[in-house]
Amino acid sequence: MAKVSINLTTGSIQKEDIIVGIDLGTTNSLVAFIDPNGNAKVINDTGKGVLVPSVVHFDANGEVVVGNEARDFLIQDPQHTIFSVKRLLGRSYQDLQSHEAYFSYRIIDDANDESLVKIKVGDTFYTPIELSALILKELKARAEHALKTNVNRAVITVPAYFNDSQRQATRDAGKLAGLDVLRIVNEPTAASLAYGIGLNPDEQKTIAVYDLGGGTFDVSILKIENGIFEVLATNGNTFLGGDDFDRAIVDYWIAQNNLSGEIPMQELRLKAEEAKKALSHQNLFNEKIGDIFCTIDKQTFESLINDKVQETISACKNALKDAELTASDIDEIVMVGGSTRTDLVKKEVSAFFEKPVNDSINPDEVVALGAALQADVLSGNRKDILLLDVTPLSLGIETMGGLMDTIIPRNSKVPTKAGRQYTTSIDGQVNMKIAVYQGERDLVKENRKLAEFELKGIPSMPAGLPKVDINFLLNADGILRIQAVELRSGVKQEVDVKPTYGLKDEEVEQMLLDAVTYAKDDVSQRMVVEAKTEGDQMVYTVERFLNKNGSFLNQEETSHTKELVTKLKVAIKNTNKDEILSAIDALNEYTRPFAERLMDEAVSQAMRGKNI
Ligand code: AMP
Repeated sequence: MAKVSINLTTGSIQKEDIIVGIDLGTTNSLVAFIDPNGNAKVINDTGKGVLVPSVVHFDANGEVVVGNEARDFLIQDPQHTIFSVKRLLGRSYQDLQSHEAYFSYRIIDDANDESLVKIKVGDTFYTPIELSALILKELKARAEHALKTNVNRAVITVPAYFNDSQRQATRDAGKLAGLDVLRIVNEPTAASLAYGIGLNPDEQKTIAVYDLGGGTFDVSILKIENGIFEVLATNGNTFLGGDDFDRAIVDYWIAQNNLSGEIPMQELRLKAEEAKKALSHQNLFNEKIGDIFCTIDKQTFESLINDKVQETISACKNALKDAELTASDIDEIVMVGGSTRTDLVKKEVSAFFEKPVNDSINPDEVVALGAALQADVLSGNRKDILLLDVTPLSLGIETMGGLMDTIIPRNSKVPTKAGRQYTTSIDGQVNMKIAVYQGERDLVKENRKLAEFELKGIPSMPAGLPKVDINFLLNADGILRIQAVELRSGVKQEVDVKPTYGLKDEEVEQMLLDAVTYAKDDVSQRMVVEAKTEGDQMVYTVERFLNKNGSFLNQEETSHTKELVTKLKVAIKNTNKDEILSAIDALNEYTRPFAERLMDEAVSQAMRGKNI
């Protein structure tokens, strides 16, 4: 185990660069840093402003633009313009299905609830990780331009409700953008730090962080003790925000003006947003678009949005209930997100918690500023703040294709525990090899092997049915206990190792440097391996289907399916990611109706057997 200050102050990158804090948002993203006087500041790249719209546009030649220029394409070229990529990070198609209409670009349905979504633009498949990496790259470039120095290291924030897979995806996006991600920090934690809450390790507080952005709302209840932030509860609605306020104004104007037929929706929406912002500091908005009257007073506005605001208050109630607290237990309320500038929001939140809210820091910037502070603490620059023991390298296991699956990320506070569930990939598999590694590279062969053992005696079941829980417990002495349990049968195996045994600081440093140097190659190699694994599984499933249910298909269907399988096999051999994914997509699209037909058949057979 190492103190953060040891292994992070010896690296050569350390002395030359600045560690930045990044708020990678659904609508907008921004970067902050700590200036030489120790003050957190947001980066304002000349002429471009502070907020970078989280939008990516691809033109016909595959040229990419990010930010304001990309946002202009949202209306002109929606199919090639990706917005809200944060909603896709670490998600599978199944997770997003019910919201598909919200996205104007193409999300691939790969009929696999395990694999992460991909987006197809032209002939190329992109993962949300790659798209987020493009946004992060733009942020890095702006920071480098403004600060006139290299920026290689960052702390990135995520919502408190992000799961493990969404956090890992965010880390990977950073890595692909050429950033060494020191830590993923919860947005509410960062926002509290920006207000100085939690900086003093002797302080014990319970706080609520209310975050209302353009399209998302969440509230988190945090307990801070000994400098550690614990999330007690979160609640919210990922499709509620300031955009709803704009829409309410637009609907009101449409009704007031008796508009029908061709309505200039986009202009009305922009005007509505202008009105909403103006009503944060005046009582009447009165303008025109052509001969449409765009008039609204504050009282009307507040009555229009009251239901939505009350919905956020209900979420606060639920969060408190989950945390087993009441409003009076909350010591501080921190306001985050542009929509908390709305007076009614401030008023209602403050009334509910029965105290004034913290809103003196710009709510668009507060998370990034806090992330910069966290980065500064991690870099060992803040001598006034206690550094906790952390694990210097990530700990994980080998998965299909020799990939590293991180279970405990580096820089996690020790002691810690984390786990994940795995399954088998072959029918009737009774043993599972578990190989434990430490390091930051995507392929385990580049990392340091700590242990290998086999979980034996898994009952014979079809692939995907066994549930194997792998848990890592890292105790305060730096001993890592690895537990593997097959949940259906209870078979169990346990191994202890000491990850730092024989590991020198220089080695740690070299491993960290290599991880940044080879990040791009690593991630692209991993994407190929993942595509191949997905392709292999698809071949396995379809061939099994043909063997079992061959008679169910007609001759033409059988031969075309076989043709598509052969194409996929060739693509897998060629190791070209887009070719593999296209072949998977084609096979999937063609065979999906068969599975549905089979299901209908099975259901109607079952019904036939029953007496109704
Ligand atoms: P964020 O997602 O945190 O960047 O928040 C963006 C949202 O904040 C958008 O819906 C904006 O219209 C809204 N917003 C920005 N400024 C104000 C303001 N002065 N009053 C009300 N809403 C605002």
